[in-house]
Amino acid sequence: MQAKEPQSLATTVAQWDGHRDHDYGSVVNPIYLTTTYDQSRQPADGARPFDYSRTSNPNRVDLEDILGRLEGGMACLYSSGMAAVHAAFQAVCTNASHVVLPHDAYSGTLRLVLEELARFGVTHSLIDMSDVALVEREVTNATTLIWVEHPTNPGLRSVDVRSIAGIKKGAVLAVDNTIATPVYQRPLELGADLVVHSTSKYLSGHSDVIGGCVVTSSSELNARLHVIQNSFGSVPSPVDCFLTGRGLKTLHLRMSAHTRSAAAVTAFLESVEGISDVNWPGFSGMVSFRCPSADALADALTLFRSATSLGGVESLVKVPWSMSGNMMGAAFKAYPADTVRLSCGIEDPDDLVRDLDRAFNLIGLTKRHRTAARPTPEAHS
Ligand SMILES: *Cc1c(COP(=O)(O)O)cnc(C)c1O
Repeated sequence: MQAKEPQSLATTVAQWDGHRDHDYGSVVNPIYLTTTYDQSRQPADGARPFDYSRTSNPNRVDLEDILGRLEGGMACLYSSGMAAVHAAFQAVCTNASHVVLPHDAYSGTLRLVLEELARFGVTHSLIDMSDVALVEREVTNATTLIWVEHPTNPGLRSVDVRSIAGIKKGAVLAVDNTIATPVYQRPLELGADLVVHSTSKYLSGHSDVIGGCVVTSSSELNARLHVIQNSFGSVPSPVDCFLTGRGLKTLHLRMSAHTRSAAAVTAFLESVEGISDVNWPGFSGMVSFRCPSADALADALTLFRSATSLGGVESLVKVPWSMSGNMMGAAFKAYPADTVRLSCGIEDPDDLVRDLDRAFNLIGLTKRHRTAARPTPEAHS
C-alpha cells in the first residue's frame, strides 16, 4: 500500500496537524500527557481509540501518519534512532540470519550488529557498499537483511540504492535515510523495503529531541514493527513527538539552507592548500574532508561547535576518530584518522566560510591563491 501524496512536501508538512482538537479547534495539536484513556468514551468520529500510551498515543499516531506520508509508506516510531535500527533488525532476523552492511556504517549500527546481535547468532559481512558488484558477491540465499546508508556517515560516499534493490535475492533491503531525508531521497520508490531514520537529526532539526522511526510499504512488516514497538517498549514520549512534529514543519526550508551552506563550505574547502578528499554528496548539510591537524582545526573553529550529532540548525564539527573511535574496534576505523566531519547549519554561508578561513589560518593552512601574499612553511616546502 503506497500512500500517494497529491501535494508537495512543503504543503504536506506545513498543513499536517490541527485536526485532533474537536473541543476548541486549536490550530496546533495538543500534547496528550496521559498514560491511559477512559474506555467508556469512544471517539465520536470513529477515529482510532486509545487504551494505554505505551501501545499508542495521539501525538505518536499523528507523527507516524506524517512520516509515513513523507516516505510513501507506513511509519512506526521509536524512542531513538538506535531503537529504530534495532527494531528493523529484530523485525526480519532470526538466529540463522546473515546481514550485509557497510564497513563505514553509523558507529552505533556497527556496535549493535558486531557486539549485540552476534551474541544471538546473527552473522554479518562488512563491505564497501559503493561497489555494487561486491554487494552482489556477498549477498547469498542465507542473507536476510541488506543495510544501506546513502550517503555513508562519516565518509559521505554514495551508494546506488536502486542497483542494490535489483540484486537483493529475496533479502530485505533497509536504507538509513537520516542524512538524505525524504526531501532528497525516497528509498521505498527506489526498491527498498524499510526506511530507517534517526529523527534526532534533520527531521526534528533543532538538536533538542532524540527519536527514530522505521517506514515500510508492507502491511505485514509494519504490523511486526508495531508489535516490537509495544513489546520492547522503546516508545517516544508525547512531548518528543510534539517537538519532532514542530521541527518537521520547516523540513523543506531547513534542508535548502543546509544544502546552500554545505555547497559554499565545499567550494571553500576545495580551495585550501593541504586539504584533501572533500566529500559532499551534492545535497544535505554534511561535508567531510582530510586535514593534517584535524583536532587543532576543531578547536580553532568557533561557529562550528565541537560536538557529535548532526542535522540541527547550528553548525557542528566532529573528528570521528578521536570523538567516537574508541567506541569500536578496527571495523569502525574504515576511514583515516585525519577525517573531519562538518554538519553545516542554516547560518549565513559567508559567516561559516569566514569561520573556516580564520581557523585554517590559525593552524597554518591557507587558501591557494593567497599563499604568495602570505607565505607559510607549506608554501616553501
Ligand atoms: C544518529 C544516527 C543514528 C542513531 O540515532 P540516535 O537517534 O542517535 O539513536 C543512526 N543512523 C545515523 C545515520 C545517524 O546519524
